[in-house]
Amino acid sequence: MQTVTIVGAGPAGLVAAKMLLTDGFDVTIFEKHASLSGIWSFEGAYYNLHTQQPGGTIEVSDLYDEYASWEHVHAYLCKYADKFDRTSHIRLRSQVLSIFKSNLHNAEESWSITVEQTTETLSSIEAFHFDFVVIVSGLFSSYHMPLVRGQEKFSGSIVHANDIKSHEQLVGHYLRFSFLSDADAPTMGLPHGTSNDLDLYRRLIPVSEPKIAFLGYVSSNGTWMIDEVASHWVSNYFKGVQLLPSREEMQKEILTIRDFVLSHFGTTACHIRYF
Ligand SMILES: Cc1cc2nc3c(=O)[nH]c(=O)nc-3n(C[C@H](O)[C@H](O)[C@H](O)COP(=O)(O)OP(=O)(O)OC[C@H]3O[C@@H](n4cnc5c(N)ncnc54)[C@H](O)[C@@H]3O)c2cc1C
Repeated sequence: MQTVTIVGAGPAGLVAAKMLLTDGFDVTIFEKHASLSGIWSFEGAYYNLHTQQPGGTIEVSDLYDEYASWEHVHAYLCKYADKFDRTSHIRLRSQVLSIFKSNLHNAEESWSITVEQTTETLSSIEAFHFDFVVIVSGLFSSYHMPLVRGQEKFSGSIVHANDIKSHEQLVGHYLRFSFLSDADAPTMGLPHGTSNDLDLYRRLIPVSEPKIAFLGYVSSNGTWMIDEVASHWVSNYFKGVQLLPSREEMQKEILTIRDFVLSHFGTTACHIRYF
């Protein structure tokens, strides 16, 4: 049986796990946090975070839910992982530190993965080998705290919204700065020695590196059902059912889409980041 590792047990990682297990792969998911569901977990969410969308638009296709708090979405995603028996494949508190291949273009060589596993008191590093890798580490899973001009004159605390976990933290405070996350783009877990810029065909597959895929970077919102379609496509690609066009054709398509986005939306980073 061919082995796949999935980096991240957020919604997109869970969806990928469902597709790849259904298609007969031996799947291991590494999740650095102590619970699954990514942004929609205690570690990922800030106090009172709710979805911005009504039910039906922030869901996978085979389990319906309503407009909800993060706790509710977390429970929904746990239910999803349980319903399709994916929970046992997840290793929590397991942060992928590196993904390596001596020759990135060699489809015969397996991927070496280094993972730091932590408990309340201990941490250990373990090495693994997998045939395939899916990186689903999330656009927002690590956040950015920008410098604000004049902040040194501010005598109160400056707190990232993500660090507000309870109502009590806010009582007695009059001002708080909330910052949007600085999207990481698909750079986490990149193989050593590569640049941070990757040309992703269909925003999923690096043009020259076989047996690796990136999921969840299509857009910043409402993408879970898109992730299902993308996971299905990636699984077919791993199985050899979905063949890729030539390198030149892929580059051409990437440039065509990039030109379209630039001409329609301009050059601000937030618009072109995912292309
Ligand atoms: C404040 C906020 C509000 C949002 N509201 C909405 C909304 O209303 N509707 C909507 O559709 N979307 C919303 N989003 C977008 C949200 O990102 C998606 O809903 C969804 O969580 C994306 O899923 P994901 O699996 O791609 O990423 P994530 O949910 O970010 O999951 C990624 C997972 O990968 C893990 N990970 C990262 N690096 C490693 C590593 N090296 N090793 C192991 N594990 C790793 C992380 O711990 C995390 O659990 C919101 C995002 C934020 C930040």
